[in-house]
Amino acid sequence: MKIDQNPFVFMGGTFDPIHNGHLRSALELQQWLGCEQVCLVPSGQPVHKHYDVCPAQHRLEMVRLAARDAWRLSVDDREVSSDTPSYTLKTLQSYREELGSERSIIMVVGMDAYLTLPTWQGWDTFLSLCHIIAVARPGYDYRPDAIMDHYTRAHQVNNAQKLKDSAYGHVFIHELTPLGISATQIRHLIQLGQTPRFLLPDQVWEYIKQNKLYGFK
Ligand code: ATP
Ligand code: MG
Repeated sequence: MKIDQNPFVFMGGTFDPIHNGHLRSALELQQWLGCEQVCLVPSGQPVHKHYDVCPAQHRLEMVRLAARDAWRLSVDDREVSSDTPSYTLKTLQSYREELGSERSIIMVVGMDAYLTLPTWQGWDTFLSLCHIIAVARPGYDYRPDAIMDHYTRAHQVNNAQKLKDSAYGHVFIHELTPLGISATQIRHLIQLGQTPRFLLPDQVWEYIKQNKLYGFK
């Protein structure tokens, strides 16, 4: 089967708020893979977060602001626009349906998220729909439990071309410029009345201040 050599690459997240750790990872992957764009997909009603997540429309707007000047990054609002809880499986199925069977689909996750995969609904079917790139993240070593160790060994490839030559089925573990930034840290700084400047784009920080998000006073 002839596979389209421009994979569809996406990174899902709560993006509460989006920060330079997300943006830099997405851009480095786009350049490394030589794909046209990396698509950012903010979750609507996240199923994994156990704190009061900022309303989806605000999170989506911040992702749009962050990607506005970066044409290598695109934004997909399908999870925010849906009125049902956000499940990665549903998103993946919709991409596969739209893109057909001959386009490589690559889902990008940070190492922390990758290691929790068995808690995601339908996770054991993900590789029948896409490839997964797990990116190293400072503070989250690659320390897989038995399930993830087995899963990684069974599917890992070390040649990125394999992610382009097939439509789905592989895991690739990738080191990018390590940026130890998290949205939790940013929310915490704002609550303490400190500035998170330079951890996230200025336009996102301005939006947070204007809309008094995360307890900004
Ligand atoms: P929170 O602290 O609220 O969990 P977060 O910074 O982890 O926020 P998420 O929206 O939860 O951001 O993450 C979305 C995706 O981006 C996940 O796959 C996560 O692992 C990845 N990610 C987040 N921050 C980084 C970073 N600094 N470097 C690499 N990947 C990251
Ligand atoms: Mg997170």
